Amino acid sequence: MWKVQYIRVLILVILMVPTIHITTAAEDLIEYRNYVDQTDDFENEQFHIVYVIPQGQNDRMIDVNNAIARSVVSFQNWFSERTNFYLIFDTFDDDLDVLFYELDQTDDEMRNYGAWVVTEIERELTDAGLLVDDKIYALYYDGESDWACGGASWPPNVPGQSAAMYLKATPNRPNYMANCGENQLTFDVNVQLYWEFAMLHDLIHTLGFISTCSPNHAAAGHVNDDASDLMYTGTELWLPSKVDVNNDDYFNHNNIDCPDLADSAYLTDLRPNYMNYQYKELTHSASTTQSSTKETSSSQSEQAELGASTTPSQKSDNNPVIFSITMLATLPIIVRIKRNRL
Ligand SMILES: [Zn+2]
Repeated sequence: MWKVQYIRVLILVILMVPTIHITTAAEDLIEYRNYVDQTDDFENEQFHIVYVIPQGQNDRMIDVNNAIARSVVSFQNWFSERTNFYLIFDTFDDDLDVLFYELDQTDDEMRNYGAWVVTEIERELTDAGLLVDDKIYALYYDGESDWACGGASWPPNVPGQSAAMYLKATPNRPNYMANCGENQLTFDVNVQLYWEFAMLHDLIHTLGFISTCSPNHAAAGHVNDDASDLMYTGTELWLPSKVDVNNDDYFNHNNIDCPDLADSAYLTDLRPNYMNYQYKELTHSASTTQSSTKETSSSQSEQAELGASTTPSQKSDNNPVIFSITMLATLPIIVRIKRNRL
């Protein structure tokens, strides 16, 4: 009899172990989560990162497991190598200040906003008192869209102060069908994948670029002269490797009547300290951080296309998964507990 009891207890212990482990790890990470904008390290113009999930959506904790920070450092590396500038991000205690927010609306409700998902997220954040007028928000939205992989303001033509990546989007409309969710945030600060280029591209939109005065301006805020340009849109495959090809449209150009990104108050030539941090990677049980597979809807909200300037691959090949992600499929889920300085 004691053997039966012993076996029962043993089975119970075995079953409980993974549960205890997962709960502890999640709580460790949540300790680092920010629900309000932390005290700013400085007062000038800056971008602020927000991890946004729809109501009830699975929380992948990419704000606290270092996935977003690694992605931001990655596109900062790429951009600074080409321009000698960094985008100025809000920091707290010298580290990236990342806000977390769960929407009042579900994924299905948000999808109905079509091209205006980014605008609706911005409205909710504003109503919650979380936005500051002169900050621009980099929104990592863990929800779907059947319109685009992302959207952004493009002042003055498209008012607003946000760019959003729709991390699970499945655009499904004429000339634009894709599974954006197949892309992953980069695993290496020296490697840029789709989301790194897409967020950088859309944040530059929020600064008003490309202006209509640029000689190669096309398609509401883009250039069309070279498919290797970060701000390109057109019929060719978008493979960004340069910032303003020929320096004639938006960066270090000679057209004094047209805005220049090099003059933007949201850029600095000072290397931020967090660029030197090593965002430590730890393997962890996938069950707490994997995203759920969601069904997609074919319903479309036919709103003005200009409402959110879409990520630029839409006219390139109808498929934004332009970088190989095959090797990423076998990578462990990455969790960061604490940052380490190099
Ligand atoms: Zn664009």
